[in-house]
Amino acid sequence: MHRDTAILHAGYRGVHDPGPFRSGPQFSSTFTTPGEPSEHAFTYGRFHNPTWTAWEEALAQLEGGECVAFASGMAAIAAILGTTLKPGDTIVLPSDCYYTIRMLAANWLSTIGVTVRLAPTRDNAEAAFIEGARVLWLETPTNPQLDICDIRHLTALAARHGVLTVVDNTTATPYLQRPLELGATYVVTSDTKAMTGHTDVILGHVAVTDQQRAAALRTWRTQHGSIPGPMEVWLAHRSLATLPLRVNRQCTTALQLAGVLASHPRVTAVHYPGLADHPGHAIAKSQMDAFGSVVSFELATRPHAEQFLRSLTLVREATSFGGVHSMAERRARWGGDAIGEGFIRFSVGCEDPDDIIQDVSRALDTLK
Ligand code: PLP
Repeated sequence: MHRDTAILHAGYRGVHDPGPFRSGPQFSSTFTTPGEPSEHAFTYGRFHNPTWTAWEEALAQLEGGECVAFASGMAAIAAILGTTLKPGDTIVLPSDCYYTIRMLAANWLSTIGVTVRLAPTRDNAEAAFIEGARVLWLETPTNPQLDICDIRHLTALAARHGVLTVVDNTTATPYLQRPLELGATYVVTSDTKAMTGHTDVILGHVAVTDQQRAAALRTWRTQHGSIPGPMEVWLAHRSLATLPLRVNRQCTTALQLAGVLASHPRVTAVHYPGLADHPGHAIAKSQMDAFGSVVSFELATRPHAEQFLRSLTLVREATSFGGVHSMAERRARWGGDAIGEGFIRFSVGCEDPDDIIQDVSRALDTLK
């Protein structure tokens, strides 16, 4: 069976099983459990839920490892950090990874005695900092600059040094990039983005091959209460069936859009790993099936960027990415990233590619 077909059917009942294609969301906060709790598959809603189980099993097919669902990408990230690091340990973190992860490291890890070493993603620069570390954290492509590192190379190097590796796979999704196959210990994904794709849920998950690590994540989730809502999980599972359709469409348009942007006189730089002149193109090609739905580019000034966003008619100004509706933002409005004032993060949706390109070209043409 082709992978896209397997994803479409993942977690659904068999085609000859009578009844609904897939069970509805299970909202019970508790379950009737006479006698010994261990004799019951489900006991209390913070411990487990059949809707989570179906989603986690479907995710496991995509990831190639056991999956644990969380209330958000950040909840999933906190669970990995909390179950791998203790005072005295060191983590190597990309200096250009998603800003909130760096904030969490500064505001939590640093204050409990974990040393945080920051190094850029590009040129596998983190490699020089792994000696003596407990965890090497990778994000590729990075959000929002879309730099690339070599997952195979870095996980192998880390393994030789006894260092655990985590890949934040949010921008790629496990549909386009499977870091467990490339040697990662953990993969974390914010399912708020392309995984669910309809800008209506906040969710995250971790994938891992080691069962003890998975069990530790589940214990963390139970004890911290960072559990996903059954309705969100059910919606996410529904969206999974269209993941290949959505992402393939988005990637094709994104590559086309990146080419158009690269040749527009008002655009000073384009960052998209699918472009042949992107510094990480060869590595991206070797570890990704396509290059993702986010295209970042630079305009000369903040007023240029603001006017560009105002002039778009089809594209919403919003923070997030991976949704079926195109959105864009001037990323420097949030602070925290080493980017120019005119830096735009553009999330390509599923609209007709001609309409997106026409809207963007017309908005760029208004710039003087
Ligand atoms: N990792 C990356 C790369 C992200 O871009 C984000 C959110 O933008 C997260 C993690 C956090 O995900 P969530 O917003 O679902 O908590």
